Amino acid sequence: MKSNWQDDEAQRLVAHYGAQGVSADVALRVYTSRLLGQDPTLVLHGGGNTSVKTRLPDLTGEVIDVICVKGSGWDMAVIEPAGIPAVRLAPLLRLRDRSELSDEDMVNAQRGNLLDSNAPNPSVEALLHAFVPHKFIDHTHANAVLALSDQPGGMALCREVFGPTMAVVDYVMPGFRLAKAVAQVYEASPDIEGLILHKHGIFTFGDSARQAYERMIEMVTRAEDHIRQHSRADAAAATPRASDAQCLERLAQVAPMVRGALAMPLGQGRYSRMVAELRTGGAIGAFCAAPDLEAQAWTGVITPDHNIRIKNRPLVLPEPDTQQLAAFRPTLQQRLDAYVQHYHAYFQTNDPLLPGKRRELDPMPRVVLVQGLGLIAWGKSKKDAVIHADLAQATIETVMAARAIGQFEPLPEADLFEMEYWSLEQAKLGQAKEPALARQVALVTGAAGTIGLATARLFAAQGAAVVLIDRDGEAVAKAARALGAHALAVACDVTDPQAVRAAFDAGCAAFGGIDIVVSNAGAAWEGAMATIDDQSLRQSFELNFFAHHTVAQNAVRVMQAQRTGGALLFNASKQAVNPGVHFGAYGTAKAATLLLSRQYALEHGIDGIRSNAVNADRIRSGLLTDAMIASRSQARGLDESSYMSGNLLGQEVLPEDVAQAFLTLALAQKTTGHVMTVDGGNIAAALR
Ligand SMILES: [Zn+2]
Repeated sequence: MKSNWQDDEAQRLVAHYGAQGVSADVALRVYTSRLLGQDPTLVLHGGGNTSVKTRLPDLTGEVIDVICVKGSGWDMAVIEPAGIPAVRLAPLLRLRDRSELSDEDMVNAQRGNLLDSNAPNPSVEALLHAFVPHKFIDHTHANAVLALSDQPGGMALCREVFGPTMAVVDYVMPGFRLAKAVAQVYEASPDIEGLILHKHGIFTFGDSARQAYERMIEMVTRAEDHIRQHSRADAAAATPRASDAQCLERLAQVAPMVRGALAMPLGQGRYSRMVAELRTGGAIGAFCAAPDLEAQAWTGVITPDHNIRIKNRPLVLPEPDTQQLAAFRPTLQQRLDAYVQHYHAYFQTNDPLLPGKRRELDPMPRVVLVQGLGLIAWGKSKKDAVIHADLAQATIETVMAARAIGQFEPLPEADLFEMEYWSLEQAKLGQAKEPALARQVALVTGAAGTIGLATARLFAAQGAAVVLIDRDGEAVAKAARALGAHALAVACDVTDPQAVRAAFDAGCAAFGGIDIVVSNAGAAWEGAMATIDDQSLRQSFELNFFAHHTVAQNAVRVMQAQRTGGALLFNASKQAVNPGVHFGAYGTAKAATLLLSRQYALEHGIDGIRSNAVNADRIRSGLLTDAMIASRSQARGLDESSYMSGNLLGQEVLPEDVAQAFLTLALAQKTTGHVMTVDGGNIAAALR
């Protein structure tokens, strides 16, 4: 492992933060925390923590000793000074004399001594940092160190590899007890430069930010060298039979069925679903290619704070025959039932061993390994699914390294249980109320147009993972970027059935399935009905009717695989119920689409799939351009704004109003076969 320390970059941060009144100590603490956090083999997603002891003025201006320690909820890779809150050191040190300290009292003492009461909670390992007197302290969960430690005889191996400058401490759950244990070890040998916490991670100390960081790099390099030199020649991994792209394609085919099986029914036709991240290739592909994957899969995490996110074990599935997916469902259900039973038993065995009462967490796996193909990680959002996939990937790499030099042995189940159900760890996950479309995947066609974009934006703001489809690839890519990292853009002409199928499959590959489909793409062809050319009429039907049908067919295909219902939403038009002169080519196709919506409602209510339409009128869009608005308002002798607000409410109808109607219908759990009008009020066009 290479050191990434650069003097000029360190000095740049000291100057940059110095200009904001931040001390050099804290600026350098930010710098090396980021260096550690940016290497996924050292630290992943909130794992690890760092500190610096320094002096800062309190509110009275008195300069006091403080420890600035990583705050809960901050990611070291992108940490800022605000993520390293200052805590008065003296009161923390006095806690050392206590024989016991409850978690609540520990958190309270840490919070109560913050210089800034608005700062985040200091790390649960803050007392450990405080009790060791070194100025800079770095802590990571380095994969290479864990590969040595997560072994039978791991403590002896660590002593041998790291030598006398590193103390090896047997596993103690983080918190007050670990802080006291480490303080005793330190006082017995004050010359040590760091610690190996058995089956947990590594600490290094230093008088400067650079010294603590360089010691971390040196020790992790030592572990890496040992693994390289001692890996058995016969530990060579299996090779997947298919290419990475083929594996991902097959994973995407099986993902909706798995997603549906993992969804928890909430009653009344509602489900708590999860969103997926699919991965293969490299170590993941090799691991999943093992012919005895079930026996190879891990039964405990590599470091205990991972199990609050990915539980102790993955669900392992045999390789599906993607030509006959229906035959895979009973196998999937059987394996999942066994997994859930195992989780219940794990809870029932371990819960009585600890004081107090706990409520069992949901028993669903967060990592699914599919034999021969790769892994599917699941989370309440795409962001969480990516975190879980990163943790699973680190687990695979570490387990493979551990087995290459010996045998992977995680912590005993009882220790992992205590950590999984530790209130301070659960607090990290947050219990915030979820937005209306959380855990759902929505697909919107015509997503680069005004109504499609407003809908995609609203659905994303309500927590949905969104697939944006449009014929204009550049525009839709730009729209997806504006929605953030977790929106997928697909260039697709919805009149091409193969392209539509591929777009749905891309959505399943990105998020694991699809729950809400807004079939919105459309365009108008004008002309008198009796004389319009045949081609225009047929083109209009291709886009304004047949494409809606193709989109709905694919939606039903994915939703039936999930078996958790779904919502079809069609953009009909005023023309479907109240025709306009010379808009026959458009209106007749839209009228057919309106009936199509009801036909799907009729035939798929049994599947829990609801089908509804929005009937909108006079929206500025690609169909009603500024030039058209100018000519029509002129023809009626009105100014543009009077023309656009010529409805009962006297207000222009906006794309956002149509998006709101789509959202309302997406959430209306008992509504199907309905048409919602969004036109500001027009009695002549009102549905009867
Ligand atoms: Zn730790």
